[in-house]
Amino acid sequence: MKIAVMPGDGIGPEVVSQALKVLRYVLPQAETEEAPIGLAGIVARGVPLPPETLALARRSDAILFGSVGGADEASLPRNERPGTGLLQLREELTLFANFRPAFMFPELIGASTLKPEIVDGLDLVILRELTGDVYFGKPRGIETLPSGERVGINTMRYTESEIERVAHAAFRAARRRRKKVCSVDKANVLETMQLWREVVTRVGRDYPDVELSHLFIDAAAMTLMRAPKQFDVIVTGNIFGDILSDAAAMLTGSIGMLPSASLGVDRKGLYEPVHGSAPDIAGKDIANPLAAILSFAMMLRDSFDLEDKAKLVEKAVRSVLADGYRTGDIYEEGTRRVGTEEMGDAVVQALRRLSN
Ligand code: NAD
Repeated sequence: MKIAVMPGDGIGPEVVSQALKVLRYVLPQAETEEAPIGLAGIVARGVPLPPETLALARRSDAILFGSVGGADEASLPRNERPGTGLLQLREELTLFANFRPAFMFPELIGASTLKPEIVDGLDLVILRELTGDVYFGKPRGIETLPSGERVGINTMRYTESEIERVAHAAFRAARRRRKKVCSVDKANVLETMQLWREVVTRVGRDYPDVELSHLFIDAAAMTLMRAPKQFDVIVTGNIFGDILSDAAAMLTGSIGMLPSASLGVDRKGLYEPVHGSAPDIAGKDIANPLAAILSFAMMLRDSFDLEDKAKLVEKAVRSVLADGYRTGDIYEEGTRRVGTEEMGDAVVQALRRLSN
C-alpha cells in the first residue's frame, strides 16, 4: 500500500498530521510519501501542482489530502491560484465521483441547526459528479454582443458515458449501505438532465436489488431540510451536487467533522476533509482534525477494502466524542475543550483501547 500525503496549506498540515498518527497505528505496514501542493507547491516549485507531486499521485494507491488555499487568492490569475492544484489533480486522475457522507454523531446533535428529531439517526451520502457539467462544458466565457452589451455563457453538458459511470458508482455504493439511490436532476426543464434521468434509469436496471427514485433539484433541497433521513445515496451532477452537499453538510453541525472521497475508474482515491485551509485559525492548534481522520477511514474502506479497520477508526472517533473531547468548533458547555494535537492523540488512545 502506497499512500501519497499532501497536507497543503493553512490547517491542512495540522489536521493531516493527526490523520497520519491514526494511519501509523492502523496501517503500520503502509508506505507514505509527502509532496507539496497548493500554496506549498508554489513556494516549493513555483506551481500549485508540481510535476513531482502529480507523479507521486500517479504511482500511489491513494492520496491523503489536507486543504489548499491562501487568504486572498481571488486576485491571482486562475492557473496561479493554490486551489488550481487540487482541480488539476482531480482532472489528471479523472476523479469523477465525489462522495460526501453526512452522518449525525448522536453526541453532536446539539450542534445541528435543525431540530434533533429531524437529524437524529441521519446517515446519507451525496455522490457528486466532479468532472463534467456546466463547470467544464464549452462554449464558456464572457462575450460582447454587436449591441455592445456583454453576455456570460456556460454550457451544461454530460455525455452518456459520464452519466453511466457515476450512476454505477452510486448503485455500487448503495449496495454497501441501505440499497436506496435517489437521483437528483432538473429533467423537467433541461435536456442534459433529461438524458441524465434516462441513463440513470437504464443503469438502475442492472441493480434490481437497489431501489431507485428521482427528484428534481428544488424538491430535493426541500426534502433535505424537511426529512433528510429518508435518503441513503443521493447521486447528482456537478453543480447541483456542489450546492446540495454543502447543505447536507450543515445538517450535521460543523464542517470540521465532514470527510470526503473522490474516486476514479480504479480504486485510487483522493481523501480529504470537506473544509478548506481556514487561514483564520491556522497555526493555532485549534482546528478540528476529525474530518481528516474520518477521510482516512473512507480510504480504508473505499481504496483498500478494509471495512473492519474503517469501522474501528469511526468507532474511535465516536468514543472520543462520547468521552466529551471537543475542539472549539463543536464545543458545548460541560464538554472538554482540546486542541488539534490532543484530539488526534485521544483518537489513537481510543484505537488502542478498542483494539485490546
Ligand atoms: P474554510 O472551510 O477554510 O473555513 C470556513 C470556516 O470554517 C472558517 O471560519 C474556519 O475557521 C472554519 N473551519 C474550517 N475547517 C475547520 C476545522 N477543521 N476546525 C474548525 N474550524 C474549521 O473555508 P473558506 O474560509 O471559505 O476558505 C479558506 C480557503 O480554503 C480559501 O483559500 C479556499 O479557496 C480554500 N478551500 C479549499 C478547499 C480544499 O482544499 N478542498 C475547500 C474549500 C475551501
